[in-house]
Amino acid sequence: MNPPFCNVALPVPLRMTFTYSIPEALQGTVQPGSRVLVPFRKKAMVGVVVELAESAPQETKIREITRVLDFVPALTPKLIELANWIAGYYLAPVGEVCRAVLPPVTELKSQRQIVLTGAGRETVDSLSGGELSHGLTPGEAAFLAKLRERKGTMPLGPAAKLGIDASALQRLQRRGLIEIRETVQGRNRKTQRVIAWKGGHSATDESSAKKKEEKDNAETPFDPAQGKQSAQRKCREERLRELLETERGPLPMPQLLKLAQVTRAVIERMLRDGLLESWEEPIDPAEDPFDAGYAPPAHELNAEQESALKMIRARFELGEFGVQLLHGVTGSGKTEVYLRAVQDTLARGKTALILVPEIALTLWIGRQCRSWFGARFEGVAVLHSALSDVERAREWWRVRNGEARVVVGTRSAVFAPLENIGLIIVDEEQENSFKQEETPRYHGRDVAIVRAKMEGAAALLGSATPSMETYHHAREGKYELLTLASRVADRSLASVEIVDLREDFQQTHQTSPISAALHAGIQDCLANGTQALVLINRRGYSWSVLCRSCGASVQCVNCSISMTHHKQRNRLECHYCGSIQSIPKMCPKCQSKYVYFFGEGSEHLEERLCKEFPGARIARLDRDTVRTKRQYQETLGAFADGALDILVGTQMLAKGHDFQRVTLVGVISADSSLSLPDFRAAERTFQLLTQVAGRAGRGELKGRVLIQTFYPEHYAIQDAVKQDYSAFFERELHFRRMMAYPPFTSLANVIVRDTSLEKAIRWSRQLSEYFSPRDGEGVRILGPATAPLARLKKEHRFQFLLKSPKRSVLTKLLSGAMAYCDAKEIPETAVLVDVDPISLL
Ligand code: ADP
Ligand code: ZN
Ligand code: ZN
Repeated sequence: MNPPFCNVALPVPLRMTFTYSIPEALQGTVQPGSRVLVPFRKKAMVGVVVELAESAPQETKIREITRVLDFVPALTPKLIELANWIAGYYLAPVGEVCRAVLPPVTELKSQRQIVLTGAGRETVDSLSGGELSHGLTPGEAAFLAKLRERKGTMPLGPAAKLGIDASALQRLQRRGLIEIRETVQGRNRKTQRVIAWKGGHSATDESSAKKKEEKDNAETPFDPAQGKQSAQRKCREERLRELLETERGPLPMPQLLKLAQVTRAVIERMLRDGLLESWEEPIDPAEDPFDAGYAPPAHELNAEQESALKMIRARFELGEFGVQLLHGVTGSGKTEVYLRAVQDTLARGKTALILVPEIALTLWIGRQCRSWFGARFEGVAVLHSALSDVERAREWWRVRNGEARVVVGTRSAVFAPLENIGLIIVDEEQENSFKQEETPRYHGRDVAIVRAKMEGAAALLGSATPSMETYHHAREGKYELLTLASRVADRSLASVEIVDLREDFQQTHQTSPISAALHAGIQDCLANGTQALVLINRRGYSWSVLCRSCGASVQCVNCSISMTHHKQRNRLECHYCGSIQSIPKMCPKCQSKYVYFFGEGSEHLEERLCKEFPGARIARLDRDTVRTKRQYQETLGAFADGALDILVGTQMLAKGHDFQRVTLVGVISADSSLSLPDFRAAERTFQLLTQVAGRAGRGELKGRVLIQTFYPEHYAIQDAVKQDYSAFFERELHFRRMMAYPPFTSLANVIVRDTSLEKAIRWSRQLSEYFSPRDGEGVRILGPATAPLARLKKEHRFQFLLKSPKRSVLTKLLSGAMAYCDAKEIPETAVLVDVDPISLL
């Protein structure tokens, strides 16, 4: 009766699914969306069933499924459809797409409950009264009666213990008489120990290593076995550093033990040695310390907000898919509109998904959602990448079980297993963080729109500075445009002024990154007791180390990128691969001692500000000072409470925050983002400047923004000064049209890479044999050329850039190229395809 085979997506970099047979005993328990354990090559692997099949391919030996992990299929049919779409559109292996869509595997902590439904209860009641069997077997009827005796729930155990087999259970489930719920057990503990790398004093730090060595030598005579041991230890420490500092950041103890494959004793020793530090942090992401007593301000919507909401409601009335763009200047009260739209959606019996660009915003919006919807609808789930596997699995299954009807999350929350979705909101839709920079390289906003379409839901994109693509669609009538043109409560936008650094230098002959005008502005803030934000877009102390004598700069050993000097940590770091070097005393190339540090980063700027404003309370916010949620909240909290006067930081400062007492925002250099070799440089600069300008003057006080630049004529800067989005849009659109860039064409970046230069070249040449004859057939193909980042993480990189006015042509060409690579036996991992890239590096 049931198909004897199924096709399984496995998390391997192969663009295919694999057929397995379903053994007799598991017949009927395997459904599309079920996670299964299967043998693959010499290993056992967890995959997901994408479809059942009547037959299997002839030529290969078909193996059997070992176990079914899900009673309720983890993925809904709609999510499988979405995964297939992503695999096709982004040319990503379907198994790797599924891995991104699935919850983390945490069987150990999960438990399944059988629950008697309302319909089930009625059926049992009528059974005990009369002769009616309702088409149930005696065994099934007896089971339902037993379930009711147990107050309607019992844990899902083995068939023998339950007295009913799995296929009968599924029949009851399909008839809606019972439900099977997966719950992930929370631990009883409220806090967990988080371990972090304690910078500065690292294992590769020469002086401390030497000291230690000297000490060791003094105590024992040299012993070769000990030398080997210490090498192993060094290697282990290095691995931990990489994990905690560059790959993952601080981690809870159990996760760290699992990922690093070390014993608890090793960690404890390193804590004692001062290489690591630890603290306690609340376990539950939903347990937000600010939640208690938080009451959202009850605002009457103003006329603009009201009319936007009316248009959103009109869209709901249609009851069909559609995309709306809420274009509202900074501080126009977009969140208020989102919350009411979600409220409406829930009232219609549907669910809602809100995507935000960063973790901090999930906390802030999650808090507001819980206070609006938490009590009445029992359930707001928060999903983001900083949750531990257990936390994420628990939130995921709450959504899958229908216990949470509103989901707030970052990029990957677009896969939240909500059913019956009515509304998907993407806040700050222009943000790059919606794009995943590893396989599958999807864009969360675009997937959100596709998902809304599949579900017949409304999509609402919000932004003060919409992306070129989105605004273009709105203007062409593909999306509906809703506008909030002014700030709430008649607050005016901040006034923005340019500081021409050429003039500043001519007048002052100072090379300080803080111009005379910015200095005076900060002085005013301090005198008036208001606050200032200073934005710089590089972290570290100096971002280049140069030899005066021969001109060589110190490059990363793995990447073609110069190393950044971190003064506090007393070393050089590569911001791309995380490698570190000690600070050279002389030029590594010509041995001259004229090593010169150049290019100021955030660490340097903080030092300068402290020098120039000795009495001021100053803090820095960047990835080096805030490596955890806790540190981030502490610094922002201190600033919001007025315990700080000046906050220095990177782009992290630019987004979302609603500080009431900020009257001055300074931008150290508007030019560095303009000079990137990327067609989106102007767009990005305009967005960044407009966003930071939006941080000033949000309270009663008027705001002022100073933008320092060597290039004041550039239209991105000019239009940002006027905060004139449509002027910028027109000029940029003209440039995109002339240069045949998106939104007028679809783009794909294909990178061929390998640690061996010779192989990378050979494969690029082979691939160009496929591409060259097809150039000009509805698609422009540039390359192969050396990629702008010619070497990254030890790999040499070559690049093809594909442009086509027609999406379908591009997709077809790329899938042809993938098949060609297969035929030529170019490894799948050597060819990286980035569809709709947001960066061409
Ligand atoms: P945006 O996201 O558009 O920049 P926010 O949603 O953060 O703006 O709103 C800015 C501030 O205005 C918030 O403090 C919010 O509580 C407040 N606000 C929103 N709507 C109104 C309103 N109708 N009247 C007064 N204040 C409002
Ligand atoms: Zn030199
Ligand atoms: Zn590097």
